[in-house]
Amino acid sequence: AAKTKRGNQYRLYRDNMEEANDKWLLLETKLHQALKKDSLALHYQPKIDLKTDTIVGMEALLRWYDPELGHVPPDRFIPFAEECGLINDIGVWVLRKACAQARFWNQEYSLSLRVAVNISPIHISTHGFVDMVRKIITETAIDPHLLEIEITEMSMLDYTEELINTIKQLRALGITISLDDFGTGYSSLNYLKKFPVDVLKIDRAFVRDIVPEKSGIAMISAMISLAHALNLQVVAEGVEEEAELKVLREHGCEYVQGYYFSKPLSVEDFTNLIKQSSF
Ligand code: C2E
Ligand code: MG
Ligand code: MG
Ligand code: MG
Repeated sequence: AAKTKRGNQYRLYRDNMEEANDKWLLLETKLHQALKKDSLALHYQPKIDLKTDTIVGMEALLRWYDPELGHVPPDRFIPFAEECGLINDIGVWVLRKACAQARFWNQEYSLSLRVAVNISPIHISTHGFVDMVRKIITETAIDPHLLEIEITEMSMLDYTEELINTIKQLRALGITISLDDFGTGYSSLNYLKKFPVDVLKIDRAFVRDIVPEKSGIAMISAMISLAHALNLQVVAEGVEEEAELKVLREHGCEYVQGYYFSKPLSVEDFTNLIKQSSF
């Protein structure tokens, strides 16, 4: 009986594996096609300068709608793309699209909005990354000072001299580098000192803690002080409440993003927002 049971278990295991494999392949095929057929889209979330209360830029956020799968959130398909090797092609697509769109908006409405693009640590560590960025800057005619690259704190985990060198080269082009999801990764403060970034983006988890807890305020205040001591600017992400905004203002946070001001918007909706805004 024991033997049969193991046999069944094995079959079950094998079936699950095959099923998982099929799903994996399907997802990979679909994502590959989405990229090829241009059926991925970028939404843009405004970034607000708290000194002037105006929009100074926007973060490009990837959206994938598949007729069968529905809306697949980036938190699900980006890690997948990193594993199956599609992430570099996605990163190039996002960069090109975001730079072209930003350049268009800035031209059309005489603005200097800075567009922020999320880049995977895998992609940024790829040989030739800086050349590719340089090429896209030329191609799209974007002013590199109006381009920002967000890398997650995770990137610092397997940081190398090479990665630091890449970041230095990007900054030499005029690009702003920001450290995304700050406070959630495993990096030590020692890495932060070595990492030549311009901006710290405080993760939403800390912003959410501001209101109910006194210790939440202490934490935010300490993070902002740390950033300023290192000559970095601060963006707080995921601001949803007036009370959170008030605390961030009081502690000298420079920029905010969040549903309180706006969700990420389609190109059409962001264009309408531009038209309504007084800059
Ligand atoms: P992220 O870069 O930290 O982006 C912030 C996320 O928080 C976005 O989720 C945004 O829609 C969401 N958010 C903004 N304000 C609020 C708020 O007030 N409340 C709440 N609850 N959420 C808010 P999204 O668009 O689902 O993206 C999730 C993550 O996926 C991003 O986190 C980023 O790590 C990754 N991602 C998105 N687009 C790209 C991309 O083009 N390339 C790469 N490599 N990663 C991307
Ligand atoms: Mg980001
Ligand atoms: Mg973030
Ligand atoms: Mg995130």
